[in-house]
Amino acid sequence: MGLYHCEGIILRTRIFGEADRIVTLLTKEKGKIEAVARGARRPRNRLVGVTQQFSYLRGLIFTGKDLDQLSQAELIKSFAPLRDDLLKMAYATWWVELLDTFLPLAEVNTGIFLFTLAGLVVLEQTADPMLVSRAFELRLLRYLGYDPVLDHCVRCREGSSEALAGFAPAEGGMLCRSCAGVEGEKLIPVRPSALKVLRDLYGTDLRVVARRPVDPALGNELGRLLFSFIQWRAEKPLKSLAFLQSITVGR
Ligand SMILES: [Zn+2]
Repeated sequence: MGLYHCEGIILRTRIFGEADRIVTLLTKEKGKIEAVARGARRPRNRLVGVTQQFSYLRGLIFTGKDLDQLSQAELIKSFAPLRDDLLKMAYATWWVELLDTFLPLAEVNTGIFLFTLAGLVVLEQTADPMLVSRAFELRLLRYLGYDPVLDHCVRCREGSSEALAGFAPAEGGMLCRSCAGVEGEKLIPVRPSALKVLRDLYGTDLRVVARRPVDPALGNELGRLLFSFIQWRAEKPLKSLAFLQSITVGR
C-alpha cells in the first residue's frame, strides 16, 4: 500500500458497488489513473461534489492491490459552466473522451495535463468554442504523436497546394492527385485556405484562437478532416462525437 498526493481532472466517472464511484483522472503526477471514490454516491458524502466530471481537484490516493482509492479530495476548480451549458458540455465531453480513449493508464505526460487544463479554462470562457476545439483536437493529436501530414502529399511529398487532392484518414495525411489516382473521390476534400488555417492552429495559443471570429462552415470543414482521422485512429466509435455533431453541424 502506498499513498500519494496528486492534482487531477476528472475525465469520467462510473458507478461502482452500492454507493461508490470509479473516477478516471488525468493527473499531473501519474498520468491517467483510475480510483474508487468510496461513498461518492451517498448524498452527504464529502466526495460527492468533488467527483463530478471535469472537476479539477487535489487528491490523496491510496494505492491498493486491485483498486486505488481516492481517499481525500479538495476542489481546485469545479468547471461548473461546462456542465451547465449544453454546447460547452458537448465539447468538454468530446475532449475528455478523446483523452480517455488515447491516453494509456499511468503514463506521465505533464504537457498533456497542462494543455488540457488550459484548454478547459478557455472553453469555459468562450462563447463559440468551435475553432478552439479544432485547435485542441489538432494539438492533442500532436501531443499523442499522431500529427496529420498537412503540408505535402504523405506518399510522394508533393507540396504544391494545387496538386493536393484531399485528406486520406488511413494514410494520416494529404494525398496529391497522382498518388490518389482513382481513389481520389474517397478522400476528404479540404480547400487550400482551410488547410492553411489548420496549419496555423498548430502553433497558436488557445486563448488567441478563442478571440478569433468563428466561421461555422470552415469549422465544419476542418472538423470533417479531424474527426475522420481521429475516428480512424481510435478504431472504435466515439460516443460523444455523434452528439457534438448533432448540435454543431449545420448551424
Ligand atoms: Zn503524392
